[in-house]
Amino acid sequence: MDTAARVRRIKPSPSTAAAGRVRELKGRGLEIHDLTIGEPDFDTPAHVKAAAIRAIEAGDTKYTPVNGTAALRAAIRDRLRRRHGLEYTDDRIAVGGGAKQVIYLALTATLDEGDEVVIPAPYWVSYPDMVRANDGTPVIVDCPERDAFKLTPARLRAALTARTRWLILNTPGNPTGSAYTPDELRALAAVLLDHPHVGVLTDEIYDEIWYDAGAHPSLAAAEPRLADRVFLTNGVSKTYAMTGWRIGYGAGPADLVAAINTLQSQISSCPSSVSQAAAAAALTGPQEFVRETVEVYRARRDTTVELLTRSTELTCTPPSGGFYLLVDCRAYLGRYTPSGERVDTDEEFTRHLLDSQQVAVIHGSAYGAPGYVRISFATSTEALTEACARIAKACAALSERPS
Ligand code: PLP
Repeated sequence: MDTAARVRRIKPSPSTAAAGRVRELKGRGLEIHDLTIGEPDFDTPAHVKAAAIRAIEAGDTKYTPVNGTAALRAAIRDRLRRRHGLEYTDDRIAVGGGAKQVIYLALTATLDEGDEVVIPAPYWVSYPDMVRANDGTPVIVDCPERDAFKLTPARLRAALTARTRWLILNTPGNPTGSAYTPDELRALAAVLLDHPHVGVLTDEIYDEIWYDAGAHPSLAAAEPRLADRVFLTNGVSKTYAMTGWRIGYGAGPADLVAAINTLQSQISSCPSSVSQAAAAAALTGPQEFVRETVEVYRARRDTTVELLTRSTELTCTPPSGGFYLLVDCRAYLGRYTPSGERVDTDEEFTRHLLDSQQVAVIHGSAYGAPGYVRISFATSTEALTEACARIAKACAALSERPS
């Protein structure tokens, strides 16, 4: 069957593809040291599971309103008020099957052919293809490591045109772990205030997995004059180890939310009723799980950065949030494997790690970061220690000249 142009323009998510490759190699009996993982390795908290079981037993197993149950919307509103001092009415909150779906629907609801979406690179793999699938044009803006992988006001200004519809701001970012300070957000907002036709889609899915002082800031709160143009997206996947429950949300302009609800009413009617009960319990219940897991991630981050950089020429800026390291492997490019093959790109470096030491990482080019690889530390310290030792061996095996 012929497929539509919008599908031919895009490719499967590289992180999903990497996970598939790891599964396949494991299925063949190989022991793979997997650092591609894009989800917490913890189990969903017991009180969240219990809320889902109660919902099933109480018969909350039917369609819900398109924009979610009243209980979940109230939980989201409360969270945004508590955390950022932001007030939203129910008609400004969209609930969907993961933040991914909410972001996709926001683009479907707003992009016409040729509309531009500014995406700072390194970026989460899905943004450019989501834009292309919705007939838009991704405008990729390189944000080098010397700028902490962050968009500067000058680079933003240079990227904006009359066709710009959105800026996507992912903070803390995947794959970099970089996060914008309130001052940096206000500096970007100052540029955006001069361009009233541009909306900002903030993806704050990692905002609780946060290692720096204070709470992670949100653009809508940092610059209230922009609040009507910001679509803030978040979800429960990463914070509460609920990736399989598929609940995410967006808060922003009522007309955008209404359009998303219309689309959703024709696509899925509503997200799963049971998952909504679980997500409401996660947002309103005890938060010890979040504090405890962040401390575990922090220890893993520090161990992994130390182990990786101590005995190799790999370098990396420790992330402020999330559970990924974006590691610079350029020192090894141009070198040769023991079998005489030249390793020229991050993709070839990634293959060398897998072939020689069975360590799986994701090549940075997939994230708009050539010369880097993404390493996830959402796995045990023992697994990280073993994988780092293997990466060090793989690096040591690369020589300046073919042998
Ligand atoms: N945004 C970013 C930056 C992510 O890394 C991910 C998941 O990997 C998502 C959104 C998707 O989250 P959800 O599980 O809520 O769809």
